[in-house]
Amino acid sequence: MIRRKSIPVDVGGVRVGGEAPVVVQSMTNTDTADIPETIEQVHRLAAAGSELVRITVNNKEAAKAVPAIIEGLDSRGVNVPIIGDFHYNGHVLLTEYPECARLLAKYRINPGNTGTRSRDKNFVTIIEQAIKWDKPVRIGVNWGSLDQQLLAERMDCNNELPEPKSAKEVMMDTMIESAMRSTALAEEVGLPSDKIIVSCKLSGVQDLIEAYSRLSGLCEYPLHLGLTEAGMGNKGVVASTAALSVLLQKGIGETIRVSLTPMPNGDRTEEVRVCQQILQSMGIRNFIPQVAACPGCGRTKSTYFQELADEIHNYIVEMMPIWREVYPGVEDMNVAVMGCVVNGPGESKHANIGISLPGTFEEPKAPVYIDGEHHSTLTGDHIGETFRKMLDDYVVK
Ligand code: SF4
Repeated sequence: MIRRKSIPVDVGGVRVGGEAPVVVQSMTNTDTADIPETIEQVHRLAAAGSELVRITVNNKEAAKAVPAIIEGLDSRGVNVPIIGDFHYNGHVLLTEYPECARLLAKYRINPGNTGTRSRDKNFVTIIEQAIKWDKPVRIGVNWGSLDQQLLAERMDCNNELPEPKSAKEVMMDTMIESAMRSTALAEEVGLPSDKIIVSCKLSGVQDLIEAYSRLSGLCEYPLHLGLTEAGMGNKGVVASTAALSVLLQKGIGETIRVSLTPMPNGDRTEEVRVCQQILQSMGIRNFIPQVAACPGCGRTKSTYFQELADEIHNYIVEMMPIWREVYPGVEDMNVAVMGCVVNGPGESKHANIGISLPGTFEEPKAPVYIDGEHHSTLTGDHIGETFRKMLDDYVVK
């Protein structure tokens, strides 16, 4: 897969773009002024594998909380770079709270939300702060908060054309123009090109693909991919995966975020796992050994193999923090837990270690394959336990 050429940007020690691997990032949904809650959530996101974490900086209380959050994370040994998400008043907060400006690893600003009449002045103030503190900036245009002044100007021009474009086409053009105008202005003010990351987020899959495909041909800034307002449950996961996969396959995208709507008290780390799974399923980056398991069918007379597949997957998730440290490369492993003799032996032979549990036979006999060869056949009541032990031995080897 040939990646698009992009300028590397250092975000608090994490490289985005250039030859760097595609970076996984996420965003908290806590009130940033609630310091313990924010520290806790950043910690969980980082532990799940988020390599950058963005927090909302929307008012003075949030800006004041930033130093304590970063100090609290440091004391827990959490070194993930923290990005500040600014809208409307970023120019004020970054100027009035220098410790916040100094400690954040990157600023995200939305050109549509930097103020209306004085928008360029406010935008310039933020860029000047970024230059002063030597910070990168993400210029993040969003379909839902497009620069209304620029859009109105473009709509007026469009209406005078002999064959006007549709309103949607004009919005798309305006988004791209807003991003490119803002990056040009940032560079004019003095922000180096290796301090700029760009995003152009929309909530429609085809629209997102079009926007990033166009953007990728117009600049070499690293692109932050994400389907905005992706939604809840399967819809959010599937829509994000569809959009991001097409772009990644074209070599577009240097960092990704999946914006899922969590259930109240839902697990925020799900968005990190989905990002990782997209990258791993596409063969771009590996994060955790993959467990191949068949769906089961009419040949499956017991749920034992599904239970074993779930048990093995959970075991791997539990062991990964240790394995990752001690056995580098363990994330490249493949494990198979299959239901019967039809595809079980074949799939198990393709895996590093695999087990095929006969669903149709009364007598539980489970051949195990290691590195493509039949290793042994497990029987009796402790098949799962024995297979887990064999998995441990394989990892250690
Ligand atoms: Fe059915 Fe066997 Fe295929 Fe699993 S491997 S889906 S049990 S035929």
